[in-house]
Amino acid sequence: VKRTPISFSSLLTDIRNSLKFISTGNSNVEIRINIEEDGTFCSDRSRIIIILNNLVSNAVRYADPAKPASYVEVTVVARADGALISVKDNGIGIHKDYHQYIFNMFYRVSEKSKGSGLGLYLVKETVEKLNGDIQFTSTPGVGTEFKIYIPNP
Ligand code: ATP
Ligand code: MG
Repeated sequence: VKRTPISFSSLLTDIRNSLKFISTGNSNVEIRINIEEDGTFCSDRSRIIIILNNLVSNAVRYADPAKPASYVEVTVVARADGALISVKDNGIGIHKDYHQYIFNMFYRVSEKSKGSGLGLYLVKETVEKLNGDIQFTSTPGVGTEFKIYIPNP
């Protein structure tokens, strides 16, 4: 595993670039990014991009059309021993009966999902490769938040 210092300002550029390729379709999802520009942490940049891109594209894809305003909020906070990443949306949410499956390969809550069910599987694998931890909370009709901790190597 390659580990190099990642400045939060370069991460900001990476997030913005990866967002260019996320189709928001007709759903107008506001993307909020909270990053202290002078922050930094040590990790594998391409893996961090895989994690963020998958979580943000899910938040956009599973926005709730019934809500007047949709958002996804990305927060990255530096700690002495690593970094905390949160990706939070006010989308359709996931019923608790399905929480145990969402990281499984090819799993999709609905057959109507346009995806292949690989995104969260890859995210979890990637977090584990970095010795990190991933948790989430999700409520139907309210939204979903993924919290990731990536320790310094
Ligand atoms: P892929 O990411 O491979 O294009 P996908 O988005 O269907 O396809 P995952 O990213 O692994 O697959 O997500 C698995 C399932 O979990 C999704 O199909 C969706 O039902 C549900 N899900 C994931 N993220 C969210 C979210 N932010 N809000 C609501 N449901 C979600
Ligand atoms: Mg996905």
